[in-house]
Amino acid sequence: MTRMLIIGPPGSGKGTQAERISERLGVVAISTGDIFRANVKGETPLGLEAKKYMDNGDFVPDSVTNKMVRDRLSESDVQNGFLLDGYPRTTAQVDYLDEILADGDEKLDVVLQLTADDEELVHRLLGRAKETGRSDDNEAVIRHRLDLYHQQTEAVVAKYAERGILTQVDGIGPIDEVTNRVMQAIKAAQAA
Ligand code: AMP
Repeated sequence: MTRMLIIGPPGSGKGTQAERISERLGVVAISTGDIFRANVKGETPLGLEAKKYMDNGDFVPDSVTNKMVRDRLSESDVQNGFLLDGYPRTTAQVDYLDEILADGDEKLDVVLQLTADDEELVHRLLGRAKETGRSDDNEAVIRHRLDLYHQQTEAVVAKYAERGILTQVDGIGPIDEVTNRVMQAIKAAQAA
């Protein structure tokens, strides 16, 4: 049973690594960005609301995001643990997640942060934009998403560091190599 978070700036490869961790540990990966994108594609009310923010690279308001996460974490496939990708991104979301977990008498085991330098990320994301056509992958929006990461999400990382459950992994390098680093870091954190 593992309950963990993966945190990283946009373009750090957290979605790719989350899928691999999920397969290897047998826990469900939950990406708030993926849930939003699925809703945008399906033109649901949640998707229409989220799109306004996502296209500009802004955070979707907590009132929308928190409830969505609470609902997802109440589903039965989460009983064996989970890997949350892309949540929490603000300290208010940390507090909300604390409440959800406390309600279920649960706690986080590991918080993994993937690190990478901003210029490398911009370069990677501009490459991804050509392949995927994601509407939030143009340079101005990319830089705004990176700014938000520094302004808001680094405070989230600091909170988990204070709690002694943060482990950091260098996200630069071939994907398989990063996966090896990630799996080793998780093992070490679980043994600690
Ligand atoms: P991601 O795929 O994780 O980069 O997320 C894509 C976009 O979805 C973000 O730029 C936000 O607009 C939105 N989003 C994802 N997760 C969150 C969150 N925890 N809080 C607010 N907005 C989010």
